[in-house]
Amino acid sequence: MSLVYVGLGSNLDHPRRRLARAMRALARLPRTRLLAASGNYVSAPIGADEPQPDYVNAVAMLRTALGPGAVLRRLTAIERRHGRRRVPGERRNAPRVLDLDLLLYGRRRFSGSRLTVPHPRMHERAFVLRPLLDIAPAVTIPGRGAARRWLSLARGQRIARTRTHAWR
Ligand code: ADP
Ligand code: MG
Repeated sequence: MSLVYVGLGSNLDHPRRRLARAMRALARLPRTRLLAASGNYVSAPIGADEPQPDYVNAVAMLRTALGPGAVLRRLTAIERRHGRRRVPGERRNAPRVLDLDLLLYGRRRFSGSRLTVPHPRMHERAFVLRPLLDIAPAVTIPGRGAARRWLSLARGQRIARTRTHAWR
């Protein structure tokens, strides 16, 4: 069994409700237990060319017997179930409304074409680090050290706690 952290994000179509549904889906994964769920945080989009709604983010802590590739496939499947806006008559893929990232898989460290763990950008994102540290204050990012230290470097990024919908 491995301890795994998953980052959840959404900025379209009722993000808080969406994160609650995604959290429920994580709790129902096979050979997996959801050990902890952070509250939600809201932040302004970074690097967007056009105005976009604020993002809502959270982090889940799981214990799982699934391997890293299997976890990623499960996350992608959940994204797919949420991820496309079904507008009648519209064929092309609409913007994604749910992003699920495999942040940490135990102490493993690897880089592949499909999957890099730890998630390569997690250590510089306050909207990942804050909720992660809420549920795992002493967590270490393999290869980078204590997550807490990275959060102090990301202090300039404005994020705020926001409402969290019940997901159980
Ligand atoms: P980001 O989450 O960095 O904003 P995307 O969600 O669009 O970007 O990236 C999805 C792609 O990233 C997927 O094709 C997936 O294979 C790849 N990927 C690599 N490492 C990870 C990881 N640790 N978690 C989630 N996706 C990953
Ligand atoms: Mg992603």
